[in-house]
Amino acid sequence: MKMLLHICCAPCSVAIVEKFLTEQEMELEGLYFNPNIHPKEEFDKRKNSVLAMSEDYGVPVTINELNLLDYWRDTLQPDKSQRCSYCYAVRMDETARYAAEHGYDVFTTSLLISPYQDHELIVSMGEKAASRYGVKFYYEDFRPLYRKGRERARGKHWYMQKYCGCYYSYGESDHPKKPIYFTENNL
Ligand code: SF4
Repeated sequence: MKMLLHICCAPCSVAIVEKFLTEQEMELEGLYFNPNIHPKEEFDKRKNSVLAMSEDYGVPVTINELNLLDYWRDTLQPDKSQRCSYCYAVRMDETARYAAEHGYDVFTTSLLISPYQDHELIVSMGEKAASRYGVKFYYEDFRPLYRKGRERARGKHWYMQKYCGCYYSYGESDHPKKPIYFTENNL
C-alpha cells in the first residue's frame, strides 16, 4: 500500500511515522503543505524540522511552499469556526489531489494526532476530499500518540511551535516562549 501522510509539523508526525514504519507494510511518503502558517520564518522553522525527520527516518517528504497569508488576513474572519474549517479543507483537498495525481492508494494527516484540533471536522474534510479525487482517506485516532511524538521531537531538538500556525493563532497564543516576529503582517 502506498500511503501519503499530510504533515503539519514534525512533533505531530513523528510518532505516526514510527507507527506506520514498524506496524504496517506500506510505502510511506509525506507532504508538507501548510499555507496557513504565519510568518514565513515560522513556516521555515517547522519545515526544517520536517526535513530533519525525513532524513532521520528515510521517509521522502514533498515540500509545498504555498503561503496564503494574505488570504487568511484579508478574507478569513478571526472567528475560529470559519477559519479552521477552511484551514482543514484546503490542506485535505490538496493532499487528496496530490495523492490521486501521484498514484497513492490512500492518504491521511498528522492533524489527527492533536487533542487541540477539531478531530471530527478534520475527518469530515478528509473524507470529502477523498471522494472528490477518488482516493481513500485512512482514519485512525492518533491522539494517544500525541505525547510520545512531543517527547521524541524534544529529544531530537526539533523546533516545537508555540501556536497553532496562522496569523490569528499567533496573536491568540500567550505561551511565554512564543517567538517574537517583527513583520509588517504581524497582529
Ligand atoms: S487556528 Fe490553527 S487550524 Fe485554525 S485557522 Fe489557524 S492555523 Fe488553521
